[in-house]
Amino acid sequence: MSINESTFGAGNGESGMEKPRIGVFVCHCGGNISDVVDVKRVAEEMSVLPGVVHSTTHMFMCSDPGQTSIEEAIKEHNLNRVIVAACSPTLHELTFRRAVARAGLNPYLFEHVNIREHVSWVIEDKEAATRKAARLISAAVSRVPYLEALEKRHIPIHGAALVIGGGVAGLTCALDLARRGIEVHLTESTDVLGGRMLELYTVFPTNEKASDLIDPLIKEVQSHPNIHVYLNTQLRDSTGAIGDFHTTIVTKKPDGGEEEREIHSGVIAIAVGVDVYQPREGEYYFGKSPAVVGLLDLQAMMNPDGPTGGKLEINGKPVKNVAFIHCVGSRQWPDIHEPQADGKINDYCSRYCCTGIVHAAAEIREKYPDVNVYDFHEDIRTYGRGHEDWYTKASEVGVLFFRFDPHKPAVVEPDPKGESALVVKCKDRLTNGLEVEVPADMVVLGNGLQARDMTTLIDLYRCSRGSDRFLLEAHPKLRPVELASFGLFLAGSVQGPMDITEATAGAAAAASKAAALVKRGFIELDPFIAKVNEELCTGCQTCLNVCPFDAISRDEEKGIAVISEALCTGCGTCAAACPSNAIQQFGFNDAEVMSEVLALLGVVKKEEEEVPVG
Ligand SMILES: Cc1cc2nc3c(=O)[nH]c(=O)nc-3n(C[C@H](O)[C@H](O)[C@H](O)COP(=O)(O)OP(=O)(O)OC[C@H]3O[C@@H](n4cnc5c(N)ncnc54)[C@H](O)[C@@H]3O)c2cc1C
Ligand code: SF4
Ligand code: SF4
Ligand code: SF4
Repeated sequence: MSINESTFGAGNGESGMEKPRIGVFVCHCGGNISDVVDVKRVAEEMSVLPGVVHSTTHMFMCSDPGQTSIEEAIKEHNLNRVIVAACSPTLHELTFRRAVARAGLNPYLFEHVNIREHVSWVIEDKEAATRKAARLISAAVSRVPYLEALEKRHIPIHGAALVIGGGVAGLTCALDLARRGIEVHLTESTDVLGGRMLELYTVFPTNEKASDLIDPLIKEVQSHPNIHVYLNTQLRDSTGAIGDFHTTIVTKKPDGGEEEREIHSGVIAIAVGVDVYQPREGEYYFGKSPAVVGLLDLQAMMNPDGPTGGKLEINGKPVKNVAFIHCVGSRQWPDIHEPQADGKINDYCSRYCCTGIVHAAAEIREKYPDVNVYDFHEDIRTYGRGHEDWYTKASEVGVLFFRFDPHKPAVVEPDPKGESALVVKCKDRLTNGLEVEVPADMVVLGNGLQARDMTTLIDLYRCSRGSDRFLLEAHPKLRPVELASFGLFLAGSVQGPMDITEATAGAAAAASKAAALVKRGFIELDPFIAKVNEELCTGCQTCLNVCPFDAISRDEEKGIAVISEALCTGCGTCAAACPSNAIQQFGFNDAEVMSEVLALLGVVKKEEEEVPVG
C-alpha cells in the first residue's frame, strides 16, 4: 500500500517517537458556528491543553485562505497533528486531509470535529454550546497523539464487467460500458432480451411504440463485439470482491442440460428490474370476473399485433365503458391492506402508474371515441417531464375523473341491472362526497411495481435491501447507484419503481461509475480496516460469524482468523466482538478510542506523552 501521490502529493516521513505538536483550527463558518459558539474562547481553552502548540480560529476554514493557513501553520509550528473543528466531516474531511498532505504531513494525522451539525445548529444556549464544542475538541486533542500515519489501500480492478439482467436498464448499462472499450458479460434469466418493455405497446411520455425503442437497443447489444450475452442464465455462486469477482453462472441448454461458466469481472451491475403486483383474489373483483384486468393486459389489447388485433373486448364482447383504478398494490395502508407473506405492505408509490393510466385513458378516447373512460384515483402523480400533458390531454378528450378517500377505496361489483359486466362506485371527493356509480365492461387495475425475489443474488453479493424490499443504494444522494459493498452497482428499477427514462438514466450513471473504476485499473480505499493480531487470536471464530460482509476467513494451517482487505468495509463489528481483543481497527484502535472517551468524560491528561509518529 502506498499513498497516492497524485491525490495527496505528500510523503509520509513521520516515524519514530516524538512529542505531539498539535494544531487546533476552529471555524466560524461565517457565523453558522460563531453566532452560537464562542469560538475565540474555545481556541484559547484548547491552546493550554497538553501537546497543543497552535490554536486559532478562521472565518471559513474550508476556503482557500483557510486551507492555506493550515498548511502555513504546519510548516511554521512544525505540527505533527492537526484538528479542524468545523462542519460535518462528510462535507470537508477530505478537503482538510488534502490540505494537511500538501504541507507534507500524512493526511491520516488529521482529525475532524463537527461543531456545526453537532453543536451550533442544535443547541440554542450559547454557554452550553461553547462548553460542548470545547469538550468535543478536547477529546480530539486527547485522541490525536495516538493516530497512526496510515496509507490508502490500492486494490487492482479486473478489466471486465458483469451485467445481470437484460431489460432496458441492463442493455443500456452493457452498451455504455462496451462503448468505452470494456468487455461485458450480460446475463438474462429468460430466453429474450428487453425485459418489461417487450410487454408494452406505446409508452409515455413520447407515445412511441415500445418496440421501436427496445428493438434497436437489443440488436446493438447482440452485435457489439465487446458484449457476451448469456440467455436462460442464472447465477449459481460467487467469490471474490471488488476488482476480482468470480461469478459462476449456469445456462440452460435447449436439450435440457446445463452449461456452467465462471465469469471473472472487476465490477458488477445489477439490473434485474421489477415485478408487477399481482392483486389478491377478489381485490377490486380481480379473479372473480374476466373483465378485471391489469395495465399490461390493456397494452396487449391495444396492440394491433396483439391477441385481439387491437380491439377492446373481453371474451369477444366489445368494451363500451372502461374504468381505471389507481394505486393497486401501492400506497397501501396497514389497517386496510393485508400484508404479504413477509409481513409487509407496499406503502410506497409505484411512480409509473398514474402517467401510465392517464396515457392509456387518453389513447382509448382518441383511438376508440365511442368508449367511455372513467378514472378512479386517490391522487394523481404525473410528476415527470411531459407527464402532466397526458393528464391534461385525458381531461380534454373526455376522461371523467373521480377521487376516492384512501381509507374508503372504490368498490367494484357485478352490475345489479346486468347492463354491463360490472359497476364501480365511490364517494367522490371532487364533488364534495357525491356517491357515484359508473358501468364498466372492463376494469383496468393500475398495478404497482414490487421488488423481485432476489434471494440468491442478495446472498451471493451480500446486497442490502430497503424496507420496501428493493436493493438499497449506499447513500441516496452521494452514492445513488452503488451498493454499500464496493464494486457493485445498481442499474434501473431493481432499486425502486422507475419509468424507462429513470431506469436508463440510472443505468447510464451506473455504467459511467463502473467504467471509471475499470479504466483506472485500481481502486483506492480508506485504510480504516480491521486487522487480526496473530499472537492473540485463539481461533474461536466469533468474528467470522459477526462480520456482515463475509470478510473474515479461517487460516486452517495457523488456526486463526484472517481479514480480506478488499472485503472489509471497516464497520468495526469484529473488533468489538473478539473476546481475545485480537482485532484492532486502523483509525479506531483501543488507545485512540479510549483516550477520546476519557476526555469526553472530562478526564484530561495533564502531561504530554511521547507517542510513536508514523
Ligand atoms: C404496465 C406497465 C406499463 C408501463 N408503461 C411505461 C411507459 O409507458 N413508459 C415508461 O417510461 N415506463 C413504463 N413502465 C415502466 C417500465 O416498464 C420500466 O421502467 C422498465 O421496464 C424498467 O426496466 P429495467 O431494465 O429496470 O427492468 P425490467 O424491464 O424488469 O428488466 C429486468 C430484466 O432482468 C431479467 N432478470 C430478472 N432476474 C434476473 C436474474 N436473476 N438474472 C438475470 N436476469 C434477470 C428479467 O428477465 C428482465 O429481462 C411500465 C411498466 C408497466 C408494468
Ligand atoms: S403513480 Fe399514481 S397510481 Fe401509481 S402508486 Fe403512485 S399515486 Fe398510485
Ligand atoms: S474473534 Fe478474535 S480470537 Fe476469535 S477467531 Fe476472531 S480474531 Fe481470533
Ligand atoms: S471491520 Fe467489519 S467488515 Fe471488516 S472484517 Fe470486521 S466485521 Fe468484517
